[in-house]
Amino acid sequence: VDDNDMQFIKMHEHITDLFHHILIHTNEGEAALNYLIDRGFSSDILKREKIGLAPKMSSFTKNAILEKGFTEEAAYSAGLLSRNEENFSYYDRFVNRIMIPIKNHQDYVIGFTARSIDGSEPKYLNTPETKVFQKRHLLFNLSDARKSIRQQDEVILMEGHLDVLKVKSVNVENIVGLMGTALSDENINLLDRLASNVTLMFDGDNAGAQATMSIGEQLLKHGLNTFVIQLPRGMDPDEFIVENGEAAFRDLVKNEKRHYVHFLSEKLLNESMHNDLAYSQNINALIDALKYVNDSAIKSRLIMHISERYNIDKSQIESRLPVKNPVKR
Ligand code: ATP
Ligand code: MN
Ligand code: MN
Ligand code: MN
Repeated sequence: VDDNDMQFIKMHEHITDLFHHILIHTNEGEAALNYLIDRGFSSDILKREKIGLAPKMSSFTKNAILEKGFTEEAAYSAGLLSRNEENFSYYDRFVNRIMIPIKNHQDYVIGFTARSIDGSEPKYLNTPETKVFQKRHLLFNLSDARKSIRQQDEVILMEGHLDVLKVKSVNVENIVGLMGTALSDENINLLDRLASNVTLMFDGDNAGAQATMSIGEQLLKHGLNTFVIQLPRGMDPDEFIVENGEAAFRDLVKNEKRHYVHFLSEKLLNESMHNDLAYSQNINALIDALKYVNDSAIKSRLIMHISERYNIDKSQIESRLPVKNPVKR
């Protein structure tokens, strides 16, 4: 963290406090505050996470930054202001949005994800890539979750920032959020240093299933034990908690955790039913995935599962897997 980084951080910490004040203590914040409370975000969560509101003004951030003695250029480089490329005037990047601060792994605020509340697109607007806000190096909530991840040797990965915040409030703490839709190699190496088990808990929609497939494969092939918690169709973790309550959610996390290969095998099953070509290709894909399963008990359970679901002899699968630990005599 050099001086320049520290300046970016100070700007963000200052603006975070102002946005938070507006949300909690002003008339202007009332509608957004009610929206969040209605969605089940208690004032405790809002305070702890310093959730805020960027007011409906085009130069609120700009004026606050200038008053604090920073320059517009610096705020622009930090991603807080946008610039009109014709006359080089600066204006607020975040207007009339709920502001969720994003902290780096040292616990400093370095950016925001900002949710629109008036239906304007995009639904979420993030801080652009800056010198200190680099998504490939970031995982949302890592600074708070790190200890619990280490203790449990497991990290649970979610798509949505609000999902992470909601789940934290029901005392599941080893949670981090994706910064976008991809997981970078840097992200994976970081997770690998923290825990041997990664559980994916993405939205129960097509995008979530796609992300589970591709990110799960990346993690598995990196050598991590990769698990999947599937949510009911159409629900994300936040919606599940609103719909079914905290106890049901904790129950899901505790009892419904399948290995990624199990998820994959169920996913590929349908198209294999009446299509022998797909059947053969999918068996190949499953056998390939099985090669990366380290735990021999889980591996044998998966082989059993695939053999039953795909009507294939266990030996057919086993004979195509490398023999890992030949018995020495
Ligand atoms: P909400 O519950 O407030 O609708 P969500 O988290 O459920 O939010 P999704 O539409 O499920 O929203 O998107 C999942 C995540 O993907 C978001 O939390 C956000 O991180 C990211 N995301 C969604 N839309 C965008 C966007 N337009 N630009 C950038 N990121 C986005
Ligand atoms: Mn979604
Ligand atoms: Mn949601
Ligand atoms: Mn969602």
